[in-house]
Amino acid sequence: MTRTAIVTGAARGIGAATARRLAADGHAVAVLDLDAAHCAGTVQAITDAGGRAIALGADVSDAASVEAAVAQVVEQLEAPTILVNNAGIIRDNLLFRMTEDDWDAVMAVHLRGAFLMARAVQEHQVRAGWGRIVNLSSTSALGNRGQANYAAAKAGMQGFTKTLALELGRFGVTANAVAPGFIVTDMTRATAERLGTPLEEFITARAAEIPVQRAGTPDDVAAAVAFFCSEGAGFVSGQVLYVAGGPRA
Ligand code: NAP
Repeated sequence: MTRTAIVTGAARGIGAATARRLAADGHAVAVLDLDAAHCAGTVQAITDAGGRAIALGADVSDAASVEAAVAQVVEQLEAPTILVNNAGIIRDNLLFRMTEDDWDAVMAVHLRGAFLMARAVQEHQVRAGWGRIVNLSSTSALGNRGQANYAAAKAGMQGFTKTLALELGRFGVTANAVAPGFIVTDMTRATAERLGTPLEEFITARAAEIPVQRAGTPDDVAAAVAFFCSEGAGFVSGQVLYVAGGPRA
């Protein structure tokens, strides 16, 4: 069945791959990112493949911006019933160097963003009696040096997900989290830069520690998100799926 999905942070990386995958699965997709112009590539890829997509510019941490974006989806596509909270940033620093801004910025995009988006979309899901929410967590939720802010946010995403599953289940809405391990995107490039390691060297070293002996790709994550969004996953809710090539990152 065709549904309407919103994927946040979908201009690039995991979000873009997820938007393309959901479109390939037959859904209309709102490709949301901070700047609508940056969504053009993802929208073009979807429409070139015969799918339906629109670009949306919105800041997920801003309530008015979120409300306006969801209203635009209703107007230009139809009421959204699939939501993927993927938008994310990193502001890595060891605790003693971490600023209040580093902390607040990460909480705002991941946690406040997922909260505002879910609150705006649930109304349409409840009305339809069907919905899928997928939140992007991370193996960093288990703790990661230099990421006190990000690890706390990604662990928070898991508690948020389980609570949505409890509250929204009776309306036919499931909520699950996907927790990627080492996936090569611009975010990985930023981490390699911070550590002062050339990207290829960084990828090779990390891949050697992963049981399947390779780095993950955005498509690996998109496949897991697509499963949670599928019709067949209606009895799976409140789960966290680690997509990390092994049991640990
Ligand atoms: P990415 O390449 O950095 O893409 C993130 C996207 O989110 C960017 O397009 C960014 O827009 C957008 N964004 C940032 N703040 C936003 C806001 N306030 N409102 C709307 N959009 C915003 O990241 P990624 O690596 O694909 O990661 C996607 C998700 O997976 C994130 O939640 C991340 O934490 C999670 N994750 C990634 C990895 C990994 O290894 N890459 C591992 C585990 C979890 P701008 O470009 O304009 O900033």
